[in-house]
Amino acid sequence: MLISDRLRNIRPSGVRRIFDLARQMKDPINLSIGEPDFDIPEPLKEEGIAWIKKGFNKYTPTQGIPELREKIASHLRKKGVHFEEVMVTAGVTGGLLLASLALIDPGDEVILPDPFFVMYEYQILLMGGVPVFVDTYPDFRLRGKEFVRKLSKKTKLIIINSPNNPSGAIYPKEDLMGVVRIARERNLLILSDDIYDDFVFDAPSCPCIGQFYENTLTLGGFSKSWGMTGWRLGYAAGPKGILQEMITLQQYTFSSVNSFAQKAAIKALDFNVKDYIEAYKKKRDLVYHGLKERFHVQKPQGAFYIFPEVPGGNAEAFVEKAIRQNLFIVPGSVFSKRNTHVRISFAASDETLQKGIETLRRIS
Ligand code: PLP
Repeated sequence: MLISDRLRNIRPSGVRRIFDLARQMKDPINLSIGEPDFDIPEPLKEEGIAWIKKGFNKYTPTQGIPELREKIASHLRKKGVHFEEVMVTAGVTGGLLLASLALIDPGDEVILPDPFFVMYEYQILLMGGVPVFVDTYPDFRLRGKEFVRKLSKKTKLIIINSPNNPSGAIYPKEDLMGVVRIARERNLLILSDDIYDDFVFDAPSCPCIGQFYENTLTLGGFSKSWGMTGWRLGYAAGPKGILQEMITLQQYTFSSVNSFAQKAAIKALDFNVKDYIEAYKKKRDLVYHGLKERFHVQKPQGAFYIFPEVPGGNAEAFVEKAIRQNLFIVPGSVFSKRNTHVRISFAASDETLQKGIETLRRIS
């Protein structure tokens, strides 16, 4: 057989039909997109261009340029995150892949609070690992008892993503502390995906697990806060032994990451995104108030997604109905073992959001 056994666990998504339907849409009201609708701030673009013109276009050190690594380290120190070593990665996606390769053996179990960012499940499966889901519905809270029930001798890792894609939930400190207690007792590693850590609407900042637990591998990035999705830049920080392995793996996979984006990222970490977050908070309010009377829905506290339950309880059927009305949203079954909710991205213009809300209210 030409194709590797590894890919046997990777099956085409069950919602392919929906994505096929969506592809045929002409000029849809598109609330499916997982990236900011703002462009990279002008001064950061200029910084990138300046470094291209200066000829900073070659391979860089595998672990990232020292001045960016130092900048990320000081950013994390200010946040109070525990780590021993930092590396620059090709987005959080790149960091996740290196972490999965470094940590997951066939048969290892990885605990994922459900709903979850879809890439986790597939990267675990790609390594021959077993994703083990901990239900967080209906309020998207982490319940220690549920975690304990799902632990086994094979549990290797817990993945936490807060603010969360797709629910928009920020797990409260007490929930995170509950998970830390469980991990500490069993000496388990936690991977914390903090990519949305600037998108916090009702508090000055959000708690992250790396602040409370030394055995945390923190992943973060530049895609969301500074709209740099296409520049492919992120970082990983955590225990030295793990980071050293990830750096070795990067050498033989990505080799190094985008040169000029690393220079611009140094500036990005000093570029305040408060105005963007304020604008997204208004979008959050617009969508939440537009939907709350017709849907069971939690108010998102972060990221840029809202995750209502659909009337009738069949998300895929609801999305097909929405597509027929020219609205594209994503069924929760992409991010969950349940097919009861839909993910709506509010990273869109107010005009598009307004049209989306009207359509959703009409078909609810
Ligand atoms: N982690 C989460 C939770 C995400 O939602 C995304 C993108 O949607 C990523 C990671 C990927 O980020 P990057 O662009 O840094 O690879």
